[in-house]
Amino acid sequence: MQTPAPRTAHAVTLTHPDRIYWPDGGVTKAGLADYYEAVWPRMAPFIIDRPLALLRCPEGIEGPCFFQKNVWKGMNAHIVALDDPQNAQHGHLIGIHDLDGLMGLVQGAALEIHPWEASCRDWEQPDQLVMDLDPGEGVGWASVIAAAREMRVRLEASGLAAFVKTSGGKGLHVIAPLEPVADWAGVKTFTHTLAQDMAADSPERFITTVSKVKRHGRILLDYLRNQRGATSVAPYSTRARPGAPVSMPVSWAELDTLTGPAQFTLGNTMERLASQRTDPWADFHAARRPLGAVNG
Ligand code: ATP
Ligand code: MN
Repeated sequence: MQTPAPRTAHAVTLTHPDRIYWPDGGVTKAGLADYYEAVWPRMAPFIIDRPLALLRCPEGIEGPCFFQKNVWKGMNAHIVALDDPQNAQHGHLIGIHDLDGLMGLVQGAALEIHPWEASCRDWEQPDQLVMDLDPGEGVGWASVIAAAREMRVRLEASGLAAFVKTSGGKGLHVIAPLEPVADWAGVKTFTHTLAQDMAADSPERFITTVSKVKRHGRILLDYLRNQRGATSVAPYSTRARPGAPVSMPVSWAELDTLTGPAQFTLGNTMERLASQRTDPWADFHAARRPLGAVNG
């Protein structure tokens, strides 16, 4: 790997910067830190001041990995403990306030970052909703794209804006920015209804519950990320999978040109950012809308 440039932007000293996290691409801990410094301006609003679950892999993706939702002894000092107002044991959830915090996560071998859909300014009112499109066996990539477009149409018909990103794994995530007005129950009911309506209109294409028998050839419209305590991978987060894929925000216009859900990686993101004239999600935060009157 190249020698890391001096890092003036943050105060975290990485131990073992040459530790290999993704053996197939030769991606090191220092390489991961460099990547996150580059995407920080775009990623920050999606991970600052909201509870984070982490997939930690201290020995890289080929070693043991574990999913962590609570602060731990020995974590970097720039990671902060968040008080969940509904949990008597306060100060247990993982949060960050700044780039130092993100570097603290890198130091802690967090190879995936999964935030809540709510910030800790409004614990009980999510500020986004996410529809996770999970293709079953035999579903082509074009069908996943078509599903995302149909989801967009339905969200817009409900007065919401819709943005799309690759999962970095198998599918796409469609996200609607919300004004934090409706509560968890309202958002869950809304997404449940949305998924059910879409599956009812095309039962041969979509399902809404995990069922192995029915899954084959269909796309699971997973709305269950929209409940208190659930998480989904952050925009720009890396995935602990071969090739160091990342969950990449894309524009609706470029969606048809993508080759697959893991097309964007830690290795090709710098070039993408450099060649992009505008952030495909530039309007995300200005597009927040309150969820309208929800049935149920
Ligand atoms: P894919 O495209 O492969 O479906 P994805 O990001 O949509 O990628 P997963 O990586 O399967 O889906 O993760 C789904 C969610 O399940 C995560 O956001 C997280 O909330 C939860 N999760 C993932 N791994 C674990 C784990 N080891 N333990 C508990 N929960 C997990
Ligand atoms: Mn998924």
